[in-house]
This record gives sequence, C-alpha cells and structure tokens, in this order.
Amino acid sequence: MERIVAAALADSSAFALLADLCDTAGSRLNGSEGQRRAVAWALDRLRAGGLDGVRAEPVMVPHWVRGRESCTLLEPYEQPLTLLGLGGSVGTPPGGIAAEVLAVRDFDELEARAAEAAGRLVLFDPPWEGYGKTVQYRGRGAVAAARHGAVGCLIRSVTDRSLATPHTGIMRYDKGDTIPRIPAAALSVEDAALLTRLARRGPVRVRLEMGAAQLPDAPSANVVADLTGRELPDEIVLAGAHLDSWDAGSGAHDDGAGCAIVMEAAFLLKRLGLAPRRTLRVVLFADEEMTQQGGRGYARDHAGELPRHRAALECDSGGFAPAGFTVQADSATVARFAALAAPLAPLGADAVTPGGGGVDISFLADAGVPLIGHRVHGERYFDVHHSPADTLDKVDPADLQRNVAAVAALLWLIAEAP
Ligand SMILES: [Zn+2]
Repeated sequence: MERIVAAALADSSAFALLADLCDTAGSRLNGSEGQRRAVAWALDRLRAGGLDGVRAEPVMVPHWVRGRESCTLLEPYEQPLTLLGLGGSVGTPPGGIAAEVLAVRDFDELEARAAEAAGRLVLFDPPWEGYGKTVQYRGRGAVAAARHGAVGCLIRSVTDRSLATPHTGIMRYDKGDTIPRIPAAALSVEDAALLTRLARRGPVRVRLEMGAAQLPDAPSANVVADLTGRELPDEIVLAGAHLDSWDAGSGAHDDGAGCAIVMEAAFLLKRLGLAPRRTLRVVLFADEEMTQQGGRGYARDHAGELPRHRAALECDSGGFAPAGFTVQADSATVARFAALAAPLAPLGADAVTPGGGGVDISFLADAGVPLIGHRVHGERYFDVHHSPADTLDKVDPADLQRNVAAVAALLWLIAEAP
C-alpha cells in the first residue's frame, strides 16, 4: 500500500488523463457526438493502459437535445437574462412564450398563491438549503406549476454561490397525461433574485424561448475493463464513475474527475506490476445524469456474477481533496472497510461512515454487493456543478493525485484481503 501511495503522489497522470478527456471529447451529453467520442477515447485509453477484456457494453440512453434557448426580461425594462434549460424539458413554440412572472419562494407559497399561476411563468426562488433539499424545485417545479395552469417554470439555479452561472440538471414530468408538460429552465442566482425583487415593485414580464426536444433513445455504452486477479479472478471489486455529463462546461468535476481517478488507479497498479488476488474491474457508466440506463444495464447484464462482486466503489463527488468513504453494507462490513482505510489517514482519506455508494452502483445493492462512495472536501462543488463553469481549470492536479492514491490503495486492500 505504501508503494501504491508513493507512486500515485509522485506523478501527475490523472490530471493529464482528465485534460485529455475534457479537451478531446468535450462535454458528454447522452446521445451527443461528445459522448460517442468519450466512449471511443475510454476504450482506447484502457487498452493503452494494458487492462484486460476492454469492451463497450451497449445500452440505450435518452436523447434530449437543448436547441437554441434564451430568456429576456421585457417589463419593466428589456434586458437579457442568463438561462440554461433543464434536461428533459420540452421546448417552447417558435418565438417563445411571453408571460408575466409569478415569483414564489417555495412550493408552500405557490400553493398559497395558486389562483395567480394560470397563464404565467412561475419562478421558484428558494434559498439554498443543501443540494438534496433544494434540488426538488428542479425535479418537480414544472409539475407543481403546471398543475395550477402555469405556462412555464423557471428556477433559481441549484447552487449556493454564483457568478452569473446557470446550472442545469434533470427535471421530470408527471407520468400520466393529465398535467401539461411545460418548459422548464434555470436562471442564474442573480437573475432569479432580480426577478423576485422586481416582482415586489410591479408586473414583470419575460420571454422564454427554448428549442429543446426529446428524440428517440440513442445507442451508448458502459465501458468496462479488468485488471485480472491472480488468485481469484472470478471475484470482482468494481471501481466505477460515469462517463456522461451535461452539455454546459466539460464535466471536469462531474464526472470526468471520477473517470480519471478510477482509470488511473487501475493503470497505477498495472504500472507497478501489481495484480491483486481478485479482479479489479473499471466501469465507466453511461447515462448517470438522466435515467441511469448504464447502472441499470450493468446490474441486468451481470446479474449472474453479482454474487461474486465483493465490493463496488463509485467516484462521483468531484475531484476535490479526499475526505474518506461512505459504505452501504451491514455494520460488520462497514467496520471491516473502516479498518482497511485506517492507513489512509496521511491522505486525509481514512474517515469511513455509513452512507450510500453512488447512483450508478446503487442498482447492485439488491444483490447484496457492499457499496462504497468516494468522499471529498466538496464545499465548492455546487459552485460549478452542471454549469458552464465545470471545466478543467477548477480541478487541482494535486488533489486529483491524492484521490488516485487513496482510491487505488483502498481498492488494492479490498481486492487483496483474505
Ligand atoms: Zn455525477
């Protein structure tokens, strides 16, 4: 383990790998050319890294396209607004929708003012209360607004800090056909606050124009590669991340960093000539961001060997300084992994707490696979998450290498354990 950590800290391959992904594939939205370039890139790099059985395992993914979009303040004066449509949203008619804004703080205020919503664009401008809580307006805002007759839904971007960056992410419509599907988009924090303030002074009108559309599902793939185990090759320790991203920015933290960490962890062991007792499997999942067809597809296609998956780890928290791991398993397994991670204290990565492993590997839980989530000091993660600012310059190469050291060491210790 000391050799692995020392070797990881002594080089900068992970950042070079991430730069290569961000700059040659670009953003990796489901169904896009960027996603296709990324799959080809990953196959190429995993083969070049000397891993075994490098393959693309096909899955079909939702194919949503953004099209051209804009939002303009019309009244009380004309001014462009900073906007990013939400993934899965319908578009507007050509020429857009011009309507008065009903600015509300939250779902409660919308219910209280439901009679005012018909024919208007509802803006949800909730305070940041952490991602898990605040993201509900992105997910369910359009349905809540449409239920009261709104013609569109705007949300304050799901972030606590903003330099005029709008943040996208998946939204959902009601499964039935009873609630109209209205277009939904995120404004920058600044512009949401502006509209809220203006609405207290008098009528606010905006024009929302979105060319978004949902096309038929598109082919994509999970990219899978093995570092074959020397004694128990049929037993698998999975290291995953997701290769897809949103189209704004280049998905450097979400989840290019995770891809670079798990790929580089395997490459590092290979370079050191270390074959663990069990097989270490790298999986770069498709479609984490929309409907998780990659995670679902892997669990389905590999159902027969899931009983031999000894653990699955996912890196999808950004490439910030390592903080430890969460483990979703019975308490004895949590304690065992905590003991294995204890020597990672010098990296700041020894804290192991019970908690979820990651969206893509969550589909392995039913088969009893212990799940491990990679934790980082992600206090700045949501500054850039799903925004045009999620770019390579936000990633610290030294942090990335410390993550490679921590993840490679933990994977090694689990794959090697008696
Ligand atoms: Zn992610």
